[in-house]
Amino acid sequence: MAQDTLFSKIVRGEIPADIVHQDDLVTAFRDIRPLAPTHILVVPNQVIPTLADASASDEAVLGRMLRVAADLAAAEGVAEDGYRVMINCRDHGGQEVYHLHLHLLGGRPLGPMTRR
Ligand code: 5GP
Repeated sequence: MAQDTLFSKIVRGEIPADIVHQDDLVTAFRDIRPLAPTHILVVPNQVIPTLADASASDEAVLGRMLRVAADLAAAEGVAEDGYRVMINCRDHGGQEVYHLHLHLLGGRPLGPMTRR
């Protein structure tokens, strides 16, 4: 299958994951190696390898990813104290899985965004 990824298999239910949201455009599931009490990944159901590969036709799915992240933050009870939404892009961004995903992190103070 063209452009099949680890996260595609999670989207299709072929690999187990703790899925917390799924709709026509995106799927959200808990990160297997959480960096914070809340660590959820939100991915498009159809593969976009990286943010750099997103085009104008992907605007609906990109918007849905952010909207779902905000809704999940509220559902997790971390919205009031605050949280971080992060996308790693390609090599220098530290991206490991080439299926676009945003990280929703919260539940503790997360510190500065990057080390100086
Ligand atoms: P990246 O570094 O690409 O931005 O983030 C990839 C994330 O995917 C990592 O935080 C990693 O822990 C997570 N991850 C990798 N493999 C799996 C998996 O099989 N299941 C889940 N739930 N998360 C995974």
